[in-house]
Amino acid sequence: MKDKYGRTIEYLRISVTDRCNLRCLHCMPAEGVPLIAHEDILSYEEIAAVAEQAAGLGIRRIRLTGGEPLVRPQLHRLVAMLKAISGIGTVVLTTNGVLLKDQLQDLLHAGLDGVNISLNALDREAYQAFTGRDEFLSAMEGLQAALGCPDLKVQINCVPLAGREEQLLKLAALARDTRASVRFIELMPIGMGSSLQGINRDELFRLLEARYCPGGMPEGIVTAEPRRAAPDSASGPAEYVRFPGFTSDVGFISAVSRRFCEDCNRIRLTADGRLKSCLAFPAGEDVKAILRSGAGEEALRAAVLRCIQNKPKQHGFGSHKTEEQRLMSQIGG
Ligand code: SAM
Repeated sequence: MKDKYGRTIEYLRISVTDRCNLRCLHCMPAEGVPLIAHEDILSYEEIAAVAEQAAGLGIRRIRLTGGEPLVRPQLHRLVAMLKAISGIGTVVLTTNGVLLKDQLQDLLHAGLDGVNISLNALDREAYQAFTGRDEFLSAMEGLQAALGCPDLKVQINCVPLAGREEQLLKLAALARDTRASVRFIELMPIGMGSSLQGINRDELFRLLEARYCPGGMPEGIVTAEPRRAAPDSASGPAEYVRFPGFTSDVGFISAVSRRFCEDCNRIRLTADGRLKSCLAFPAGEDVKAILRSGAGEEALRAAVLRCIQNKPKQHGFGSHKTEEQRLMSQIGG
């Protein structure tokens, strides 16, 4: 369905938990955060009820995220429930990959269509320094297991921080050596991200080009500028480039330096049951209250509709301090 600015809203991101097994520099403080009480987190049945109403209003793709979605027991059950909803085409997962290997077969049987693995370092020491945990080998096993499933779409997500250029170059090379595209997601001024220095798309493109195509990108292999993905892509509004000799694309998602709100196609459900139309805006529909009041499907559908209709024109980072001071895991990341 279209919002009031004519954007087709067909993508729902669902945060299934605020818990995470890593403490990535840009995402979660080393000491953790006050956790949402278990009873305040939506059950799988409640999540599916929201998704069903959203599907009735045109949502076609779902991404599960968190926190770390795989720390929530039996996530495959939710995947199967979502895949069974009429109108839902794809269900994909964003994960750090640490727990992926052991859960992958169940997730595949449940119908999972794709996995984005967040990876910000490509050797054990750098990974531990970035994530606060010695889980590099498990994350790599998760990635290898995913790559070994031919029907599963696999992408790697990285948030480029200043001072980590060597790691970024190594991570980009995964797109040369594997079937996974590597997408660099610009650091957003959210939570821990506000106090760190990111590398923007243009700088990063120049860095990668200098290493992987030192003469400049030859015509015919790529466009001068990374090409834009189709606006309705479930991959989000990324731009992609294929360096010579690479198997897969390198992508740039630049929410800050190249605001892409005019192509935004998504709404978000937080783990504690707020339905939001924009990551940066604090406002949201309290669907948990609706679900638990017994108000029924009509009330739930009306809340989803309001959420879509009230979607703001732009994210406006810098002017919505309430959400920016909270963490990704708390605002529907
Ligand atoms: N735990 C899962 C993971 O690691 O992919 C899913 C949740 S995590 C919040 C989702 C994505 O948000 C990760 O790729 C993470 O790097 C990214 N992220 C967290 N804080 C960010 C920030 N300030 N700016 C940009 N991306 C951020």
